[in-house]
Amino acid sequence: MDCCFEWRRLFLAVLVLCLVRGASGQNAAPQKISDGVWFLVGDSSKGYSNTTIIEMQSYLIVVDANYPARAKELLTISKSLSMKPVRYVFDTHAHGDHSYGNSVWTAAGATTVAFRGVETEMDRWEPARWQVAMTKREDVRETGEADVQRPQKIIDGDTFVLKDKTREVWFIFLGWGHTPGDGYVWLPKEQVLCTGDAAVNGPRNKLLDANIANWPEVLDKALALRPLHVLPGHGAAGGAEILSGQAQFLRDIYGEVKLQTDAGKTPAEMHIKLPESDRNWVPNRPDGLQQDIETVYLELTSHAPAGSIPHVWK
Ligand SMILES: [Zn+2]
Repeated sequence: MDCCFEWRRLFLAVLVLCLVRGASGQNAAPQKISDGVWFLVGDSSKGYSNTTIIEMQSYLIVVDANYPARAKELLTISKSLSMKPVRYVFDTHAHGDHSYGNSVWTAAGATTVAFRGVETEMDRWEPARWQVAMTKREDVRETGEADVQRPQKIIDGDTFVLKDKTREVWFIFLGWGHTPGDGYVWLPKEQVLCTGDAAVNGPRNKLLDANIANWPEVLDKALALRPLHVLPGHGAAGGAEILSGQAQFLRDIYGEVKLQTDAGKTPAEMHIKLPESDRNWVPNRPDGLQQDIETVYLELTSHAPAGSIPHVWK
């Protein structure tokens, strides 16, 4: 290792520190979960999701492309963690805060990867959602593109494995929860599970594209993997309690709304008390619970997954 190389690493480390501190103080520093596995909590005030970086023998895997501006930050951060190139970027699902940075990564030489259901969801909802995001987000406008770039490698079936001398990385589909294309990343040796928004850390989520009745059963399958570390789409890392807590929230809200629906109430007449938000992730929607109640009501009264019913993203 020559001295120029060391100086370059030092420069990048300082630059990363500036990026971390400069972004409203809310992008957390990389958290080492296991050797060669880092978890990066994104700045929620900018709408960023979380990211995981996994080091393989000769390359890096990034879990979730994030928004374009965060993708650029993450490219720099990845170089401070390892000089290996980012070869694969996995979109856990089609939502903008997880996939709109795709073109940033592919321009840097990575291949974007997702399950077939992610592409199907993009074809269903885009470019309408992208165009709404353009009106709100400078980083989306700055791409100069009119639509989200589709993942380049599509996984058919429900499992894809990357394996080398250092580790195995499983990409698995367990069923329709948060969206029809939800992909998880599972490191069996390290017992690390990246969930995307199939699980966030706290009693909340975005239900608009979900299959709410099915979702807790999907989370039970994730729990059956017996993960030691659960790395959620939003909020801090933790253990299996993130999965069981998310399932409990979904069962609670579904059960409460069903009781009141059966009693003849409309969503506006429902009063539902669920656990308070934690401090790890403040969703940018104070009306979140009311939206969730309406979405569960829609699923119950339509007798179909909420996400299958035409709706507007809000
Ligand atoms: Zn999402």
